[in-house]
Amino acid sequence: MKVLVINCGSSSLKYQLINMQDERCLAQGLIERIGSEGTVLSQKVEGREKYIVKQNMQDHKDAIKLVLETLIDKTNGVIKSVDEISSVGHRVVHGGEYYSKSVLIDEEVMKALESCSKLAPLHNPPNIIGINSCKALMPSTPMVAVFDTAFHQNMPKYAYIYALPYELYEKHKIRKYGFHGTSHKYVSRVASKMMNKDIKDLKIVSCHLGNGASIAAIKGGISIDTSMGFTPLAGIAMGTRSGNIDPSIITFLMEELSLSPEQVSDILNKKSGVLGISGISSDFRDLWAAAKDNERAQLALDVFHYEVRRFICAYAGALEGVDCIIFTAGVGENSSKSREACCKGLEFLGVKIDREKNNVIGIAAEISTADSKVKVFVIPTNEELMIARDTLEVVNS
Ligand code: AMP
Repeated sequence: MKVLVINCGSSSLKYQLINMQDERCLAQGLIERIGSEGTVLSQKVEGREKYIVKQNMQDHKDAIKLVLETLIDKTNGVIKSVDEISSVGHRVVHGGEYYSKSVLIDEEVMKALESCSKLAPLHNPPNIIGINSCKALMPSTPMVAVFDTAFHQNMPKYAYIYALPYELYEKHKIRKYGFHGTSHKYVSRVASKMMNKDIKDLKIVSCHLGNGASIAAIKGGISIDTSMGFTPLAGIAMGTRSGNIDPSIITFLMEELSLSPEQVSDILNKKSGVLGISGISSDFRDLWAAAKDNERAQLALDVFHYEVRRFICAYAGALEGVDCIIFTAGVGENSSKSREACCKGLEFLGVKIDREKNNVIGIAAEISTADSKVKVFVIPTNEELMIARDTLEVVNS
């Protein structure tokens, strides 16, 4: 049983072929610059040199065709025929209020995805193109949509309603949706295994800290609150995104600086976050390197870590206690200094980091002291595996 996982961006496509018997990744690859000059596919297979194909391609259909050709390539491939792929799991960013679970794709689902495009105009359209392209090339293979928003769809209403005129929710579906759901779901399941406890009995704060960052409060395996909102711009300061700000700043920028909605959106999404504060970089490695002699780099790190701490405390309150805190994604998995800074001052909650145990990079590990009331874990996320598991479950049911 082999599941192909597809994640389409506007000009890129990531894929993994996973053997579900042992959940081993047989091949993973990335195609960049789809639709422009110099499209490149790079595929990694364990124990082999990276395989690179340079081939201009017009659209995602060409890209998926090349993925399938590469997977069955006699020398560099990993399967003999496309028929070995039992199903395809598609990452879809926004499922709106339609889906709280992954779903088998049919005409009705496609219509729902189209209608969610206005909620995620940068993300859903390429996801839809990817699904249509796959359907054209593999018409009899079952396809499943796995949504970033689905895991958060069971939040209580008081957690997802904004204090705006209620008609804006009713007519325009303006509410908190939350993102990174596949990642939060995956790491929370791994944590429950590491603690040898049923997920139903756990209160977890999951910190997905990458270029995009979000924090989720998970009670009994269900997300009850999360820091991202109507879009992935909300929550904590990120690499280039502002996170939560006073909404009046937007009208101030438009009125005082005569900026258009596009210009404001560009500032908030691409020029803010730790990049905006530091003026140096959105990459935390650069900020740590610069922080000693650069006040603004240190300030950017301080703001980021402070916001993570605030959310951890807020969610410990929302959960009415906390059994474990998880760090995942680029910063969470790789930066012991950031993890320590995010937990600083949380001893009152029962959080005690063991500096030696915290000295890990990119592997699953417990990093709290033996007597820490709250367990703290580093858990590398694996959204592709979660998508493949969901895909298999949906197809089998
Ligand atoms: P992601 O979006 O999950 O791929 O995370 C990407 C981010 O992880 C980059 O912007 C880096 O800032 C951060 N990152 C990766 N490795 C490290 C590291 N060793 N120390 C600090 N930050 C890191």
